[in-house]
Amino acid sequence: MLEKMINSDAVEAVRCVLDNGKRFVVLAHKNPDGDAVGSSLALYHYISGLGKEAAVVLPNAFPEFLAWLPGAGNVLFYDSNSCQASAAVKDADAVFCLDFNSLSRVGDLSAVVAEAAATRVLVDHHLSPEHGFDIEISHPQACSTSELIYRLIESLSGDIAVTYDIARCIYTGMMTDTGAFAYASSRKDVFLIVAALMEKGIDKDKIYRNVFYNSSLLRMKLWGYAMYKKLKLYKKHNAALITLSHDELMHFYAMKGDTEGLVNQPLQIKGVRFSCFLREEQPGKINVSLRSVDDFPCNAVAAEFFNGGGHLNASGGELHCSMEMAVEQFVVAIEKFKSELTA
Ligand code: 5GP
Ligand code: MN
Repeated sequence: MLEKMINSDAVEAVRCVLDNGKRFVVLAHKNPDGDAVGSSLALYHYISGLGKEAAVVLPNAFPEFLAWLPGAGNVLFYDSNSCQASAAVKDADAVFCLDFNSLSRVGDLSAVVAEAAATRVLVDHHLSPEHGFDIEISHPQACSTSELIYRLIESLSGDIAVTYDIARCIYTGMMTDTGAFAYASSRKDVFLIVAALMEKGIDKDKIYRNVFYNSSLLRMKLWGYAMYKKLKLYKKHNAALITLSHDELMHFYAMKGDTEGLVNQPLQIKGVRFSCFLREEQPGKINVSLRSVDDFPCNAVAAEFFNGGGHLNASGGELHCSMEMAVEQFVVAIEKFKSELTA
């Protein structure tokens, strides 16, 4: 038996929204990851299964290693197809906002969502959600938004409604947001849900290979280069940094998603409690990824130094400056947090 998480009032409010609407949009955050895409597609399949119209709208493309997910081919991307994507949002009776705690996380699409007449439903597991949604299902203790979508579907229609395709989407989101159940997964319910998904016939090893053993030769070389040449240890601060400039990324023809997970690697170094990866997406625009272990709050570092936020142990942000300045910012940040890093 799963411990109760989503309260019955919220479930009944969602039921009412689904019963009374015809068209629905499922939305997730910019630079969508496995949980964003997995949870969105799971809900999309569930709503479609109710005989209603559903569309998944994402601000921009997801990494290629998620393209095998059932329904991935039907996703609308706002950056490359803004007309159709905005029309879907404008026509929707309700918009489900998945895996983000603030509308700003959907980029330019936030204005379209803010103006839409649709009922807005939040389903998310980040800390400190923004208020203003009509229904808020926010549970930071969940390992992933995909876990919440499993719970929501199960509460609405029972486990019977979780199809093989829904199970594959949910498992992918749970697996990717927990580093294949290495972190954020120390609750027994996570494994009870995995067991329920396995009852649906999912091949968890195949899903693992689809996502993690999907590398190009160039990606392997990029990771080798990053480890050998670009990883710097700040021993006195128990911190590590990897930087990759735009030119370096271009040199390896880096595709979206090729650096996903790279930021976790330095945490394998004995003593390292905080890892930062600075990726120069475009000249002068630096995407920041932060990871930590134990109780070191990388979301506090992201908020104070990198215009971002996130979870305690996994956060991000962005800087508009040169790589040199971004590295300086990192150095200032670890100095400021030195006592927490070395406690
Ligand atoms: P990643 O390093 O995988 O890009 O992001 C890790 C986590 O940090 C995400 O799941 C999200 O919670 C958070 N995050 C990433 N970028 C941003 C950002 O720009 N703003 C905020 N508030 N959170 C972010
Ligand atoms: Mn997530």
